[in-house]
Amino acid sequence: MFDQIAQSVAYQKLNLDAAVSITVKRLDQIHPQISGNKFFKLKYNFLEAQKQGLNKVLTFGGAYSNHIAATAYAAHLFGFKSVGIIRGEELAAKPLNSTLATAQQFGMQLHFVSREQYRQKDQPEYLAALNQQFPKHFIIPEGGTNPLAIQGCKETLTAEDLQNYDVICCAVGTGGTISGLIEASAEHQTILGFSALKGDFLQHDVKQWTTKKNWKITDAYCCGGYAKTTPELLQFMQSFEAEHNIPLEQVYTAKMMIGLFDLIEQNYFPSGSRILVIHTGGLQGRHTG
Ligand SMILES: *Cc1c(COP(=O)(O)O)cnc(C)c1O
Repeated sequence: MFDQIAQSVAYQKLNLDAAVSITVKRLDQIHPQISGNKFFKLKYNFLEAQKQGLNKVLTFGGAYSNHIAATAYAAHLFGFKSVGIIRGEELAAKPLNSTLATAQQFGMQLHFVSREQYRQKDQPEYLAALNQQFPKHFIIPEGGTNPLAIQGCKETLTAEDLQNYDVICCAVGTGGTISGLIEASAEHQTILGFSALKGDFLQHDVKQWTTKKNWKITDAYCCGGYAKTTPELLQFMQSFEAEHNIPLEQVYTAKMMIGLFDLIEQNYFPSGSRILVIHTGGLQGRHTG
């Protein structure tokens, strides 16, 4: 199932008046719900759950989480049951937003917890308690980032991608996707990550997944932090979409693209650089933020 979907990824070269070329790898087109990188991150998690004889998954996310939407849909496809631990107790009493409504529609059982509780999502004691409450569930961490996810994300790049491009760009949240790209990359390539969040911790997080050195992450275009936007970002997103006919969303991919365009303007890349941009999708959350 996963293999069939991955083979259909399209490339789109942007029409630019610049000394570099940009090609967008349209993972956003893989599926409206399992968009982009989440699909690669989930692949080996589901295969491992199957191997362990489990047919239920449990994972964590915020109310607008692309990972929650993708996991619910993947579970539906695999004939798995799924549980989503959702940050924010107060949401239980409110109408579901479109991300959560879609997740529920694909069979995910939504379990709302307080922010204090949610913060324990990686603590062994809390995980043990969840295991009691939801027995025989395969647990996938927030954002889906674990060694199985990195293994899946390596498959984002084909042998041609390693030959045909000098720079590979992606949006960064937990750092799982970029770690897979780095691990798969060729020595001559640079992997450039545009963080959706403020802070240096990602440098450290990525180093736990790879020992390679051919990468950089910048948070200079995070617009103040996760899910924050600026009028300039939204304006850029609109004009980019109108000009190139590629949809972006404001949490991840628009920040990456505005950053990339800014670096090109600053002549950051040598003339003739061939840049591959990984469009990580996320469009299910586009109209909700
Ligand atoms: C989740 C997500 C990311 C971040 O992926 P990480 O592996 O967590 O770094 C980037 N782009 C989109 C659209 C996403 O949904």
